[in-house]
Amino acid sequence: MSGPTDDAVREDSTIERQAGLNMAADASETFVRDGRAALSLIERYWTRLIAGDPTLPVKPVMQPGDLMSRLPISAPEAGEPIEVALRDIEREIVPALTHWQHPHFYAYFPANGSPPAVVGELLSAGLGVNGMLWATSPAATELEQRVLDWMQEALGLPATFRNNSQRGGGCIQGTASEATLVALIAARSRARRAGHRGPLTAYCSAQAHSSVLKAGLIAGLADGPDGVGHDGSAVRMVPVRDADMAMDVKALGTMMAEDRAAGKRPIFVCATLGSTGTMAFDDLRAIGACTDESVWMHVDAAMAGAAWVCPEFRTPLEGIERADSLCFNPHKWLLTSFDCDLMWTRDCAALTGALSVTPEYLKTTTTGMVTDYRDWQIPLGRRFRALKLWMVLRHYGLAQLRTYIRHHVQAAAEAEGTLRGDRRFEVPTPREKSSPLVVFRLAGPERTIGEAKMLNAQNAEFMARLNASGRLLLSHTVIPAAGAHRDDPQWPGRYVLRLAIGGTFTTSEHVREAVAMIRAEAGR
Ligand code: PLP
Repeated sequence: MSGPTDDAVREDSTIERQAGLNMAADASETFVRDGRAALSLIERYWTRLIAGDPTLPVKPVMQPGDLMSRLPISAPEAGEPIEVALRDIEREIVPALTHWQHPHFYAYFPANGSPPAVVGELLSAGLGVNGMLWATSPAATELEQRVLDWMQEALGLPATFRNNSQRGGGCIQGTASEATLVALIAARSRARRAGHRGPLTAYCSAQAHSSVLKAGLIAGLADGPDGVGHDGSAVRMVPVRDADMAMDVKALGTMMAEDRAAGKRPIFVCATLGSTGTMAFDDLRAIGACTDESVWMHVDAAMAGAAWVCPEFRTPLEGIERADSLCFNPHKWLLTSFDCDLMWTRDCAALTGALSVTPEYLKTTTTGMVTDYRDWQIPLGRRFRALKLWMVLRHYGLAQLRTYIRHHVQAAAEAEGTLRGDRRFEVPTPREKSSPLVVFRLAGPERTIGEAKMLNAQNAEFMARLNASGRLLLSHTVIPAAGAHRDDPQWPGRYVLRLAIGGTFTTSEHVREAVAMIRAEAGR
C-alpha cells in the first residue's frame, strides 16, 4: 500500500494554512476564552430566569417557523469567531426557548441540571471518549459501575442490583424509554430461548408512560396504538383503581390468565412508580405475588426514584426484591443534566444475551472478561455520562440532595393543602407522600355528560389563560371519569392540571407564588 508522497503532505499543510485551519491552536489559544464566554452566557441566562426577568416568559410567544425564517438558509462558507455565534444565541436562540430551567416551569416533569452537572457535561465532551467497550476507555465503564453502585446504596435498592453482585448490575441509559425497551427485549429473548414460539404479551397500567407501548411497537409485540400485534402478541393496558390511579392487580391476574388460556405467553409487566399523569404508584408486592419468575418485572420510576435518597420516602419500594429491572432518571429530579437514566437489573446476562453482537472489529483481549456496556443498550457508542452524575454527587453530597428533595415535597404538600382548602378547586387524586406533583382542577357540577364536558373545557381554558401569562407553565392530562361513569363510553375523562414541582431553581416561595397566581386567575 502506498502512502501519500512527501509533496502531497506538504501540499495539504499548505492548504490548511491557507484556509486558516489550525486545530491545535484552536484548542489552546481561543478555547479558554470562548469557554469562559459560554459559561458567562449560561450564568447570565440562569440569573435572568431566577430573577424572573419579564422579557423571558416561561414559554416563548411565537409561531412555528418564526425562528427558521431568521436563520440563514445555508451554512456559512467562511468560519467566524465563536463570540459571533454566542451573540446570536442570546439574541435569537434564547428568546425562542421554552425555559425548562425557569423556577416557574411546572409543565412536565423537569429536565434538571446544575452547575456541577454542566461541568461534568463539559468534561465529558472535552475528554471525548466513546465508552462502548471497557477497552475503549476503562475509566468510562468503571466510573459508571461505581456511580451506579453508589446510587443503589443511596436509594436503598436491593444489593442484587450491584455491579459486584453475582449476576446483577447497573448502567446509564439515555432515557427511561430506552431502559424499558431494553428490559422488554431481554424478556422477549428469554422467552424465545425457553422455546416459546407463540404470541407474547406484556402488561402495564393504563396510566403507565407511553414509552411502554412504544417499546412494544419496536420490539414487535404491537403493531399500532391499540397495542395489538399481527400474531396475537400484545401490550395490554391494565385498568387502574378509582381511588389512586394505580394498577388494578386483580385485573392484571385475570388478563394474564385469559392470555395463557388462549395459548399466549405473558413475558413482561411494567410496574410504574410515579406515573406521569398523577404520580400513581403501582403495588410492587401485589404485582410480584401475581406473576411468576417467567414474567420479567420492570419498574419504571423515572421521576419518583429520586425521592428515595430520603429513607422516609421509600414506602413504594416495598416488594422491589421481585423486580428484574428498575430505572429512574436523575435528569428529571436529581440535578443531573439531561440525558441520564439509571437502569439496574438483577440479571445482566439476560440483557447481554439479548443484545450482544460481536463482529471482529469489536473483539478485544478483554472481550467476555469485563463489562462491555455496548451489550446493555441499543446503540453501540456511548457518552461518558457518569461524569456529570459523579460531579453532582461529589459536589452536593447525599445530605444536600436529601434537603433539595424534601423542600420540593414539602412545597407540594403545602400547595396541595392550599388548593384543597379553596372550594373553587378539587384535588381528584391523593398525593403520595413523596410526590412533588400536585394534580388539581376547577371544581364544578358534573351531573350530566354535558356538564362534565363543560367543566373540562373550563379547565382547559383556565390553564391556557394561566400559561398565556408567561409567568408560569402548567400542563394537563386526562384521567378516567369517577365512579359509575368510568364504564360509560360516552362519559368524558376528567381534564386535570399538573403542577409538577422539581426544577433546580424552584423554591417553596416560588410554589407559593404559583399557587397565588392560580387562585387569582380563578377569581377573574
Ligand atoms: N416513564 C415515566 C413514568 C415518565 O414520567 C416519563 C417522562 O416523563 C418517561 C417514562 C419517559 O422518560 P424519558 O424521556 O426518559 O424516556
